[in-house]
Amino acid sequence: MAFKQLVFSGVQPSGNLHLGNYLGAIKKFVELQSRYDCIYCVVDMHAITVWQDPKELTTAIRDVTAAFIACGIDPKQHIVFNQSQVAEHAELAWVFNCVARLGWLNRMTQFKEKAGKDRENVSVGLYAYPTLMAADILAYRATHVPVGEDQKQHLELSRDIAQKFNNDYAASIAARGFGDAFFPQPEPLIQGPATRVMSLRDGTKKMSKSDASDQSRINLTDDADAIALKVRRAKTDPHPLPSEEKELDARPEADNLVGIYAALKDGTKAEVLKEFGGAQFSTFKNALVDLAVAKLGPIGAEMKRLTQDHAYIDSVLADGSSRAQQLAAETMKAVKDIVGFVRR
Ligand code: ATP
Ligand code: MG
Repeated sequence: MAFKQLVFSGVQPSGNLHLGNYLGAIKKFVELQSRYDCIYCVVDMHAITVWQDPKELTTAIRDVTAAFIACGIDPKQHIVFNQSQVAEHAELAWVFNCVARLGWLNRMTQFKEKAGKDRENVSVGLYAYPTLMAADILAYRATHVPVGEDQKQHLELSRDIAQKFNNDYAASIAARGFGDAFFPQPEPLIQGPATRVMSLRDGTKKMSKSDASDQSRINLTDDADAIALKVRRAKTDPHPLPSEEKELDARPEADNLVGIYAALKDGTKAEVLKEFGGAQFSTFKNALVDLAVAKLGPIGAEMKRLTQDHAYIDSVLADGSSRAQQLAAETMKAVKDIVGFVRR
């Protein structure tokens, strides 16, 4: 069965948006708008899988929305909304909790990393996070999902859930006229030189909102001075930049900065090394500061302007939520029929 091509992705309002979110996700969201219908979600229900102060959560929801728009997402042409305004996400997630197997969730590395040693004390929501993510995507029967490399495993789980639902309910799906599959197999879009931006302090750790050290990341709202300071202080090794991309494999910090430069420049790592191979880090870092400030400065400024205007941001979310809900409600009606629930 052929599914209508549709892009879905989400970002958590769980702290300051950073360069990893931009290069790994939001920049891709923007680029996909010319080729697909797109739905971009501020996933506030995911955010509360770890404690969020209510006031800060409200602010962060508006900040992520502002970031989407400041980066170039068009909320009129496409859909921008926050997850908690469309109850179908939670509803479908419950059905998926009953489709997904415990063994599948036990393999999720994000849970292991986020729960750490204190596993008995983290929320049930943190564990069930991937089934809600599957529901986010499949409530729209979306076919393409742009994400950073760290979300690849969750995307695979979404595919497994879609497949098992299609298999378990095959007869009911066919009887309802949906052919041999009700849900598509959503395809991850993970491409380019910055699918996993690393911490500026540790080239083996992902750049993350939840990292305690602000020096580990470049925030989208950092001003030119902050960006310059963080890049100049970024951890590196003592050697000049290599000329061959292969040589980056054993040099995580160099690899990271080269990848960031390439992504900001819409180029490849090979192109960056062609220009900077043999150069000292001090030279390269100066060029990186200039490029980062040129690309991120206008975004940060526009974000600051937009976040002042709560009425506008909230109206974007209200409009997006009502359009999203119309689509998700159709899916949910069909799911209820397929599962055998009685509905009004
Ligand atoms: P948290 O630490 O709270 O999980 P996060 O920084 O991982 O926050 P998310 O909201 O979970 O942000 O992820 C939003 C999008 O950004 C996802 O598509 C994710 O894959 C992508 N992303 C997050 N961190 C990076 C990174 N360091 N490099 C590339 N992409 C990233
Ligand atoms: Mg994350």
